Amino acid sequence: MGIGFAPRPTFSCPTPRGFPVRRRAQAANGREPEEPEAPSRMRGPRPAPRCIGRAGPPGAGRPLAGRATVADRLRVPTLAVAMVPHPSHRRRASPQVYRVRRAVALTVVVLLGFGVLRLAGVGGSGGGGDGEAAGTTSSSTTTTTVPDPPACAEGDVVVEENPATGWQTVIVDTERALPDWYAPPDLTNISEAGFPFTDGLALRGLVMADLHAMREAAAANGTPIGILAAYRSYAQQADLYERRVGEMGTTDAGGRVARPGHSEHQLGTTIDVTTEGLDDVDQAWGASPTGQWVASNAYKYGFIVSYPSGGSGTTCYDYEPWHLRYVGQEVAATVVESGLTLRHYLFAHHPPAGYDPAAPEPTTTTAEVVTEG
Ligand SMILES: [Zn+2]
Repeated sequence: MGIGFAPRPTFSCPTPRGFPVRRRAQAANGREPEEPEAPSRMRGPRPAPRCIGRAGPPGAGRPLAGRATVADRLRVPTLAVAMVPHPSHRRRASPQVYRVRRAVALTVVVLLGFGVLRLAGVGGSGGGGDGEAAGTTSSSTTTTTVPDPPACAEGDVVVEENPATGWQTVIVDTERALPDWYAPPDLTNISEAGFPFTDGLALRGLVMADLHAMREAAAANGTPIGILAAYRSYAQQADLYERRVGEMGTTDAGGRVARPGHSEHQLGTTIDVTTEGLDDVDQAWGASPTGQWVASNAYKYGFIVSYPSGGSGTTCYDYEPWHLRYVGQEVAATVVESGLTLRHYLFAHHPPAGYDPAAPEPTTTTAEVVTEG
């Protein structure tokens, strides 16, 4: 069905934009914690065999204090019946019989207590049950709490990590910047990854193998990709920023273009992709077949969409479906599994030196595991 969107006015090399943005609470990234599944049937203790007094309707007679209450809550009328004492006009039982009855009643109470605990979800998954319940599906919920990232802010904190070796986890955002002198050590033209040679489009050599594989997979899917932007030096980012300031003023430019040092493109591991043959991209591209393929598959080749839809509260940027940062397949898989945005994930699991992750409020994510019991 084609691309399905019209290219919008060109902005030469799409860059992080949209700052400042409001900070939004993002509990569980939109996922609600799920209630543990209540057992569909409670295992009812068998009626006490020795307690065979005259049976009446539930509640008849004189229920033992405290016990009938539990039985009523659990709606096991036969148990209430079982615990009705013998009418006094019947023959008087011997002390031995009373002892047995007391023991049986105590057992029933213990079993009922166990049932209440199971209903309340205490004691784990609540699986098991009687023979009929074996083989049914049960589910367990794992809840993980991670600290929120710091609020989005403009700043000029130069990262302490060495970007050349810490390229997978170094945080570059609106506050943290790469040093102005930093340039990646092993820049290589993207033709190494099978793209047409384009003067100036280069990336670190360590990206090439996975980028080549992603290019082939996208083409095999019928959604071939092209690259609009790759490495940008500090000086190039400064030029771009100045041009935008000249075009639209400081306020708008500051919201659309990362200031020098604050662009992930300076890492030499970040690309802006589009559909092969197009020379522009915009947010609508994210809904195109190619954009959807990239959103679902890029992580398999080590690339993460740094600024996903709905993530601006933690990414500090508007949705950029085209902006992919390479972090390697292993890290990319854990980022996707976490359900967090890349910036959130990095602050939670690879906090910068001197950063106190306990300070911001925590975020809870929930993952449900369903097992065959
Ligand atoms: Zn970009």
